[in-house]
Amino acid sequence: MTNSPPTIIGLAGGIGSGKSTVTKYFNELGIQSVDADDVARLVVKPNSDCLKKIHLRYGNDILLNDGTLNRKVLREIIFDQPKEREWLEALTHPVIRQEIMAQLNATTSRYVLLVHPLLFETKQDTLCKWVIAIDVPREIQIQRIISRDNVSQDSAEKILVTQLANNERIKRADFVLENAGNIADMNAKVLKLHQKILESLLC
Ligand code: ADP
Repeated sequence: MTNSPPTIIGLAGGIGSGKSTVTKYFNELGIQSVDADDVARLVVKPNSDCLKKIHLRYGNDILLNDGTLNRKVLREIIFDQPKEREWLEALTHPVIRQEIMAQLNATTSRYVLLVHPLLFETKQDTLCKWVIAIDVPREIQIQRIISRDNVSQDSAEKILVTQLANNERIKRADFVLENAGNIADMNAKVLKLHQKILESLLC
């Protein structure tokens, strides 16, 4: 017997918008998830083909003492050099895509969330039946990034520049979760949306 393909629902939102927080609650409701950020880390783990190629290109400075990728150094390289970003994306995106598909196909819940900061930018919204976008005012988003990651205002703003503006993401989404309030507010919205999705899947 072959498994039927999973119903994939995208969860899009910039860094610090609340994707992990929202996903945690969907998981508690029994919905599985595949996190593109986790996969992106997995494909550059020590001894992976991708990490070997990155090491060859950038030398020992790109590794930490324990042999793992020095993400900070890599981030700095690609922020300043668009050609290097292109090289890195050409190397890693196909591998990430393949691993994401494998993980999605292994899920068994009624639907599965594909959690992705760059869902539209990487065209992975095309895999999804519907897309949920998280909407958060930019100032709150920046403050949450600063306190979670202990980075400067400048770095937080720089990261946001490389991602689609929230309003663009929201325009293209089927559902929007607004995350300016507290976690309890958010969880209540997630529960409502989960029920709406289950009902819509029956139609
Ligand atoms: P993402 O996964 O999109 O990068 P996170 O879920 O990690 O974002 O959220 C960013 C930070 O903001 C985390 O420290 C998280 O605990 C906090 N956060 C998220 N949503 C809320 C909320 N509604 N109220 C307060 N803090 C929140």
